[in-house]
Amino acid sequence: MGDSDKGAVDRREFLKGIAAGAVTGATQVTVHTQDTQDHNHDHQDVPSDLALRVKALESLLVEKGLVESAALDALIDTMEHKVGPRNGARVVARAWVDPAYKKRLLENAPAAIAELGYSSGQGDHMVVVENGPKVHNLIVCTLCSCYPWPVLGLPPVWYKSAPYRSRAVMDPRGILREFGTTLPDEVEVRVWDSTAELRYLVLPERPSGTERMSEEQLAALVTRDAMVGVAKVTLPPSGGRTCTASMTWAVSREWGR
Ligand code: FE
Repeated sequence: MGDSDKGAVDRREFLKGIAAGAVTGATQVTVHTQDTQDHNHDHQDVPSDLALRVKALESLLVEKGLVESAALDALIDTMEHKVGPRNGARVVARAWVDPAYKKRLLENAPAAIAELGYSSGQGDHMVVVENGPKVHNLIVCTLCSCYPWPVLGLPPVWYKSAPYRSRAVMDPRGILREFGTTLPDEVEVRVWDSTAELRYLVLPERPSGTERMSEEQLAALVTRDAMVGVAKVTLPPSGGRTCTASMTWAVSREWGR
């Protein structure tokens, strides 16, 4: 049995234990944490209430035969290792260095993205919108959290928050400023509302000073936030400040999520 198989089995055993704990209440969890004080081998930290509920539900669905463990493991593996902003960054970098690819990307995004091996059910219909000196595109899902999974992975908390979903439409320049992106008045801001049927991805502007960079180096510059449109792609700062995941998390907390 390989390590991945062993991990899957361990996870299922853990879930079965959680399901039992969910039936008898939280007391067992409390006792377990007190018990660990008396011995010193490694234990997993007690998950949050939400994680416990999710894992208990998952375990019960498996126990009742409504879903298969292998299918869940494959889904989790995909979300953890095969989709995410790195995919989108590679798409953007390719478009920056290959004009023919960029043309195909803007004309038929799913097909061009699939050329690099990225596709999934949450990205069958994607449109790429290009930022330029006179236009800045911003992506939102005003209804819920629709997002181009094959190229960006799962959406961040702030993308799903009610303040972002409403203010991205009512006050896009204000939202952008809170993410550290201040645009001149003459730059048009276009807001695109993603749906389950049609999801958008921003092709950011290639920053100046990157002319000699390789495609791989360029991909390393491209952030998730730039592909949603709340930030621009910048060169690594020399002691400067960039918009990072922790900064955007701070913004979402200020909004009260
Ligand atoms: Fe949505």
